[in-house]
Amino acid sequence: MTADPFDAPQSRALLERAARVTPGAVNSPVRAFGAVGGTPRVMASARGPYLVDVDGREYVDLIGSWGPMILGHTHPDVLAAVSEAASRGFSFGTPSENEILLAEEIVSRVGPVEQVRLVSSGTEATMSALRLARGFTGRSKVVKFAGCYHGHVDALLASAGSGVATFALPDSAGVPPSSAGETIVLPYNDLAAVEAAFAEHGDEIAAVITEASPGNMGVVPPLPGFTEGLRRITADHGALLISDEVMTGFRCSAAGWYGLEGPYDGGAPDLFTLGKIMGGGFPAAAFGGRAEIMARLAPTGPVYQAGTLSGNPVATAAGLATLRGCTPEVYDRLAVVSQAIAGATGDALSAAGIPHAIQWAGSMFSVFFTEGPVTDYDGAKAQNTELFKVFFHSMLSQGVHLPPSAFECWFVSAAHDDDAVDRVLAALPAAVRDVSESFATIAL
Ligand SMILES: *Cc1c(COP(=O)(O)O)cnc(C)c1O
Repeated sequence: MTADPFDAPQSRALLERAARVTPGAVNSPVRAFGAVGGTPRVMASARGPYLVDVDGREYVDLIGSWGPMILGHTHPDVLAAVSEAASRGFSFGTPSENEILLAEEIVSRVGPVEQVRLVSSGTEATMSALRLARGFTGRSKVVKFAGCYHGHVDALLASAGSGVATFALPDSAGVPPSSAGETIVLPYNDLAAVEAAFAEHGDEIAAVITEASPGNMGVVPPLPGFTEGLRRITADHGALLISDEVMTGFRCSAAGWYGLEGPYDGGAPDLFTLGKIMGGGFPAAAFGGRAEIMARLAPTGPVYQAGTLSGNPVATAAGLATLRGCTPEVYDRLAVVSQAIAGATGDALSAAGIPHAIQWAGSMFSVFFTEGPVTDYDGAKAQNTELFKVFFHSMLSQGVHLPPSAFECWFVSAAHDDDAVDRVLAALPAAVRDVSESFATIAL
């Protein structure tokens, strides 16, 4: 295996200090490198497509803060908007203009979203959307799909993807059976299972929540007709359909996955959840949908929901500048960069005879170390994560920072210029050679 020429001593020293005051030394589990081993890099700064760690080493960034950095790091327009907003006040606890402008921008982009409520994280968005769906329907059960991640909401942690997949946790401790018991978990892309669940519990189900196109078990797009099937079944039974576009929103297209796959026969999802890109790297997220449903929220309706920092003027300035920066040229560049990196990775793995599948949702992609197509969580879990580990560390040692888990998307930005792309391509031959050597020894 290619030796890591850089030992990351400063990162290691800081993480030792962190471990004394923070469980596992990190504030979100996937950052701990639990799935790949080795020393996580503590970052000092970022610009464009690059991260720089505390040891002074530069990496081509393929994490993109898990999606938000679609324009690249410290984009000048976003930085200017943030500085200007911060100079006028950090938080007011009253209405302010930026939150109104951001809401208007979201509503203008995502057709079926007539109104939004701003929150501070994707988790808060799905949690609140679920409460609203329960309040609107007067029902309590919710259907989710195995491998879909909707944040760390109690009711939605069952068979979740993302960090839960990375660490192979069956469920989280601390989620009461009464909460998980209201959740029906079904295999993704299986409409017959949805029909069966509704045949049994149809009048108790408040909502089906699904990732618009799942990205938290790797990219597993809905099969043709799946989303429309969900729309039809939920409508037939008086349940709501919640499309979680926290990851896909404003990435798969200007209007997210809905912009690519919609409009649907039978109508749009009732509620959407959004996050990541719409905060531009700051804590801002949203849930929204038909005005008739949104009106059930306090203060106009009986479903309570609130937040001290909701609609924060600095976070909303960052989100607004980021969304305004998401021009057609940006989406064109994302497609070019994704195809270059995914194409070269696929070619190199094919030439070496390594089983793999590259899957897409618009320009969002991930690489599975297994024969495709992967259509559900069981398929995603069948991949060889040992091979990913080898691949990851070889790329890292060559200055390319992939997400440290085989179950995550590779996030590119419009700031990935030809030089950054070339650096990724240049690292591939050695990484694939390392994987080939392991492939001979790692039992499948
Ligand atoms: C990231 C993500 C969330 C959770 O968002 P946080 O801001 O991390 O709470 C929810 N749903 C999906 C689809 C996500 O990708």
